[in-house]
Amino acid sequence: MSEEKPCNFHEMELDDRILKAIAKLGWQTPTLIQEKAIPLLLEGKDVLVRARTGSGKTAAFAIPVIQKILNLKQTAAHQEIKALILAPSKELCHQICGVIKDLTIKCSREVRYVDIAPQVELSVQKPLLVEKPDIVVATPARALKHVKAGNMTLKTSLELLVIDEADLVFSFGYEDEMKDLMTFLPKICQAILASATLSEDVKSLKNLILHNPVTLKLKEPDLAPASQLTHYHLYAEEMDKATILYALLKLHLIRGKTIIFVNTVDKCYKIKLYLEQFAIPTCVLNSELPAAIRCHSVNQFNQGIYDIIVASDEKALEEPGMKIQDDSKKKSKRRKDKESGVSRGIDFQCVANVINFDFPLDIQAYIHRAGRTARGNNQGSVLSFVSMKEKPLLDKVENKIKQGQEDISVFKSYQFKLEEMESFRYRAKDAWRAVTKIAVREARLKEIKQEIFNCQKLKTYFEDNPTDLQVLRHDKALHTVRIQQHLADVPEYIVPPTLKSLAGITKRGKRKRDHYKTSESSTSKFQVKKSNPLLTMQFEGFNKKKKKNT
Ligand code: AMP
Repeated sequence: MSEEKPCNFHEMELDDRILKAIAKLGWQTPTLIQEKAIPLLLEGKDVLVRARTGSGKTAAFAIPVIQKILNLKQTAAHQEIKALILAPSKELCHQICGVIKDLTIKCSREVRYVDIAPQVELSVQKPLLVEKPDIVVATPARALKHVKAGNMTLKTSLELLVIDEADLVFSFGYEDEMKDLMTFLPKICQAILASATLSEDVKSLKNLILHNPVTLKLKEPDLAPASQLTHYHLYAEEMDKATILYALLKLHLIRGKTIIFVNTVDKCYKIKLYLEQFAIPTCVLNSELPAAIRCHSVNQFNQGIYDIIVASDEKALEEPGMKIQDDSKKKSKRRKDKESGVSRGIDFQCVANVINFDFPLDIQAYIHRAGRTARGNNQGSVLSFVSMKEKPLLDKVENKIKQGQEDISVFKSYQFKLEEMESFRYRAKDAWRAVTKIAVREARLKEIKQEIFNCQKLKTYFEDNPTDLQVLRHDKALHTVRIQQHLADVPEYIVPPTLKSLAGITKRGKRKRDHYKTSESSTSKFQVKKSNPLLTMQFEGFNKKKKKNT
């Protein structure tokens, strides 16, 4: 294997059915972690991978696992459980299964998998295990319970063991279960540990599980390269930011899944209530709500149930190694670790655009937000609205990203002729003012009540009927601001002439009205090009001919 040359999936000796599934996912080339890990795993090596969510690590272990199962199938006499994939939360298990599902789409009869992480009676899952699926995905505790109950035997059949987010396995308190579980596994089977950090806990897990492993500590840049991630900025004060946001979204100048970042939770609701008046549905990712609710919101966003999420930074919850001063705080650290783990694993997928409505307060926050897009090898864009007060922060970020390379310019200027948007401004002003502090407070209260209701009353029901959970949307209107029906529509006369063709107004002046009515279920032709986020951001206002080269 050549060390230097970037390889592609076709050079990895993968089964055609896997290659077809990869092509269907639209993945052109392997990510760095995939490029390095897949060949090693196919060779049969034990591997310890340090990789963050977003690096493509799930497929890095899932692809070789599926390939190996297909290989084994050619000679296997019986159906047996061949791979056990452990992850510290049921949300993560669910996400891993999603990736396996996509990758086995062309060989779903040959490679079967089961997720036994959901907390239902063991007897409910037993029939699934009796079928001896090729891959079992579970938390360590659930796997142990089933093994102890005699619902699955792994000692003789298991060939592959994967532990994802290994650093969290300990902090979630699975250490004992893990050790216990090991006694039910074969002495020798190929093992893979994936972890965001290589903590002492991971090292002890490594000693317990891996034999002569290869450790992959890939040096990943903080931000995706410029070829993959474009940074735009636009100078505007608060009210103009609101007008521009409304125009961009309502005229579908921004397409694809979008995260709008602001600096406080209250502001999240302000934006939601503001956009609600234009019938632009959004979901708020409230960092103060329990992790399970946030994960559900993000999952639905990932599934495409809604396209816009408004979020504030969640730094405190996401730092895995939080410092603790004394023993009395240990308990809360554990809780927070659990929270952090849930939100770490469950991540935004296929985000085309990040909009910084408020400019982040420091460089780390900028990197963190920007890192929500351009995941894997996908393209992405960040558009930052910058007020005069925020300009020094922008300069700081730019200097930091440039790292001394004075000749390059990180931020492209996003041209937007606000003076041609007077009517938008007029409407925006009204709608922005209508969102009072009281309306925000009421909205927050209302949402908490809604979520508590969803959580408690329906918990058991949804555990039994997981598909019904899909209907529980998080982007519904909160209605604490009076809705004026006419605002939902964009009359043709307020759209500047240069934008008419972009916005779907034909020469004859006939507008495809539906393109403007962003009802909760409608999709416009402009949303079809979701997969190409750069297209969405290349629009340079009304100076189309004057393309900026940066
Ligand atoms: P992960 O780190 O496994 O959570 O993956 C992060 C995101 O990258 C997911 O949305 C994957 O669908 C995506 N992804 C994984 N591998 C690739 C690839 N080779 N090309 C493009 N996207 C990928």
